[in-house]
Amino acid sequence: MASWDYSPAPESTDVVRIRDDYGLFIGGEFVEPAAGEYSKTINPATEEVLAAVPVADERDVGRAVSAAAKAFKRWSALAPGERARYIFRIARVIQERSRELAVLETMNGGKPIRESRDLDVPLAAAHFFYHAGWADKLEFAFPGRTVEPLGVAAQIIPWNFPLLMLAWKIAPALATGNTVVLKPAETTPLTALEFASICEEVQLPAGVVNIITGAGATGAALVRHPDVDKVAFTGSTEVGKEIQRAVAGTNKKVTLELGGKAANIVFEDAPLDQAIEGIVNGIFFNQGHVCCAGSRLLVQESIAERLMDKLKRRLQTLKLGDPLDKNTDIGAINSREQLNKIKSLVGSGVDEGAELYQAECELPERGFWFPPTVFTGVSQSHRIAREEIFGPVLSVLTFRTAEEAVEKANNTPFGLSAGVWTEKGSRILWMADRLKAGVVWANTFNRFDPSSPFGGYKESGYGREGGRHGLEGYVR
Ligand code: ADP
Repeated sequence: MASWDYSPAPESTDVVRIRDDYGLFIGGEFVEPAAGEYSKTINPATEEVLAAVPVADERDVGRAVSAAAKAFKRWSALAPGERARYIFRIARVIQERSRELAVLETMNGGKPIRESRDLDVPLAAAHFFYHAGWADKLEFAFPGRTVEPLGVAAQIIPWNFPLLMLAWKIAPALATGNTVVLKPAETTPLTALEFASICEEVQLPAGVVNIITGAGATGAALVRHPDVDKVAFTGSTEVGKEIQRAVAGTNKKVTLELGGKAANIVFEDAPLDQAIEGIVNGIFFNQGHVCCAGSRLLVQESIAERLMDKLKRRLQTLKLGDPLDKNTDIGAINSREQLNKIKSLVGSGVDEGAELYQAECELPERGFWFPPTVFTGVSQSHRIAREEIFGPVLSVLTFRTAEEAVEKANNTPFGLSAGVWTEKGSRILWMADRLKAGVVWANTFNRFDPSSPFGGYKESGYGREGGRHGLEGYVR
């Protein structure tokens, strides 16, 4: 075990200017909410209040949708090369302001700066670059077809990757000629509001992108609005089902990216040290607040003991603490509500008889924290093997044959992602053919690229985001 410690290396917060209060970004300007209601957004690592953000009601939703509908006529008629230019400029400004955006994302969401700096923000910029490329080449994306944009896209995103999910939603919508009303999650609105100022900076025509803040009621009003033509949602399966009910019988086109309970499957011939890194990245990246997290580790029985020893040793080296510290691996849990949910599911694991292992680490006094946790002796009927925990908690199951691995991996109502670790290429293909998951990673995990479609089966939702497939959800 390493006996040295790292000196603190906190990122400076001087680069961000957080306002005391924000407006709704509607029709190209920041406006006050009709009811004058605001809610406070905090830093989950310190519980310090960062800003007051508006709670949009039905009237505000109405204003935002009309602004988007009005802007649609001109935006969709614009030469595709011109649209590409705006999207390209957005990508460039995200790059230019990457440090500021990363710090803001970390302050408002609790994720380690290393992740927001190296993954969230660069991937968000990459998404805009990629879609700027498609904007004037849609005839190649849909050969032999003439496609048209849908109109106003209502986009609702969760709190785990605020800016990145915004990019996944807005970039393809704009590239295909739609206009947008986007609602970020109630706990993480700040980078979306900062994005609104980026839209101003690149002089995006007024109303093409509208950002409204608020909680579930705001989202529900947006989904129900009769002038919305498309609903794109990322979040819980429960809310996904509600949205589906709300749009039933309408002409609204819908894509849903919901929960997951991915199997990360390690065969006995896998490169073990690499697999350990993949397991750690699979479940502890972003505190496990990842819908495609590798939350079920399926390990071949013959190597289970050796792998568990290595994994436990690796867990002890993870650094939990100040998300702004560049050495931090595990940041804060996003909210008290989420922390309580994690605690309750972990409690059920103990009650149902699984064996708990937690790395020794000191939890800061203020803020919301949960130590890296691994359960062994998990059986398929345990809640921790079936339900999405959305926290840094891994459930370990074993298997003997590839057939058994497939059966266990698919024994879930979800189907978002899976990982396979083996030296044999033929086995990777054999497994990928049989795993009911939208994404299958081989000898890696949680790898994202704007050109690669992402999405689920079963209760993980439908539709794809990213790649050529992702454009399909925004055209008729
Ligand atoms: P999570 O479990 O990840 O917090 P939720 O599904 O609760 O996910 O939230 C994801 C997004 O959906 C958030 O922006 C939230 O405000 C919004 N939301 C919650 N309830 C509804 C609803 N009934 N209709 C539309 N959007 C909703």
